[in-house]
Amino acid sequence: MKSLEEILEYTSQLAFDLEFRHARDWKAEDPTRVLIGYLPIYFPREIVHAMNGLAVGIMGAGDRIQIIKGDAYYQSYICHMPRGIIELALNGNLDNFDGFIFPSICDVIRNLSGMFQILGKGKFVKYLDYPQNFLSHVGGEFYRAELMHVIQEIEKLNGVKLSPEKLNQSIRLYNRNRKLIEEIYTIRQDYPWRLSAVDLYHLLRAGLTLPVEMHNELLETVLIHIQEDIGEEMDKIKVVVSGAFCEQPPVGLIKTIEIAGCYIVDDDFMLGSRWIEGDVDDTSDDPVGALVDAYLSQSTFSSAVYDIENPKSQRLLELVRRRKADGIIFAAPSFCDPALLDRPTLQNACEEAGIRYISFQYHENTGQFKVIQEQVGAFSDSIKLWEDMPLEAS
Ligand code: SF4
Repeated sequence: MKSLEEILEYTSQLAFDLEFRHARDWKAEDPTRVLIGYLPIYFPREIVHAMNGLAVGIMGAGDRIQIIKGDAYYQSYICHMPRGIIELALNGNLDNFDGFIFPSICDVIRNLSGMFQILGKGKFVKYLDYPQNFLSHVGGEFYRAELMHVIQEIEKLNGVKLSPEKLNQSIRLYNRNRKLIEEIYTIRQDYPWRLSAVDLYHLLRAGLTLPVEMHNELLETVLIHIQEDIGEEMDKIKVVVSGAFCEQPPVGLIKTIEIAGCYIVDDDFMLGSRWIEGDVDDTSDDPVGALVDAYLSQSTFSSAVYDIENPKSQRLLELVRRRKADGIIFAAPSFCDPALLDRPTLQNACEEAGIRYISFQYHENTGQFKVIQEQVGAFSDSIKLWEDMPLEAS
């Protein structure tokens, strides 16, 4: 069994391999294999896996490359992530991909899908519209048609037909993946010092570029290691980070939150990997329908989803209570409409519930964390010192 340090070193490299070398090597072993890139947040990777493909998450370039051409494509009042992705595309980093999926999260992603089409990237570019109606005969039918379109596009690429048996097998593997991730979060809820938030982030992000079988092996080994009494508890508060579901915060920012006195016990950094709560039915004669049903009834909450029947503010508070967190850090990318438009509603809910919070914005390539460190440090200290004081008095 590999040591925890070995795995974490490996995943930290893989998480930010913007050449996608592992995925390219995987594809080179078999001419019928395909690489399908998908953007944040959620995409049912099972269908690609079942058709001899690898769905690779494209989460932006972070602070790892200098943006030169990407800035020419976007106005200054647009978030940073699409600039990094355009830069990767223009630099040839995505040339080995056969197709791209742009899940409907906001207008920026929609426009980015158009730019990929104009630039002729991939053999297909699909803007995948998610239903905002959760009735199976309305939103469900619509979503099924969207997935069938993706399936047809992949079949055109490699001639592989999707069978229910193969799709059920893929669903089983991804069920295992989601379960392992949740088990790691559950252990970290009580023992967050056993695996830092940065290490967890690398572990999950690496999974966006690996076959699920390999990622499951890594997760299983990490789970074994963190069941041991390792590391040392420090005097920190526990927080949930919310709002960072699409453009990812720089790793330095996650580290800063921890250094400033917080254990992050839940977050929405790699939300797509945790989107479906619980298992998808892996025994159905109609596994595409099982994926559709899972989306309609087992999706987590996010600013990307219209959820009047199941308000995200209540689900966020419930998460904070379940994780026994001391407060919330609202961290959203600058100019991110979905996250920032939701923020007042979420903050109001916190105030009504007496849950403490702080808020700030970032870019994926933010390099200065001093102000954030001071803000988070003061937040942590205030909770430690005045834990029992009513919210309005602290
Ligand atoms: S970070 Fe926000 S605004 Fe930018 S692409 Fe993602 S959801 Fe859209």
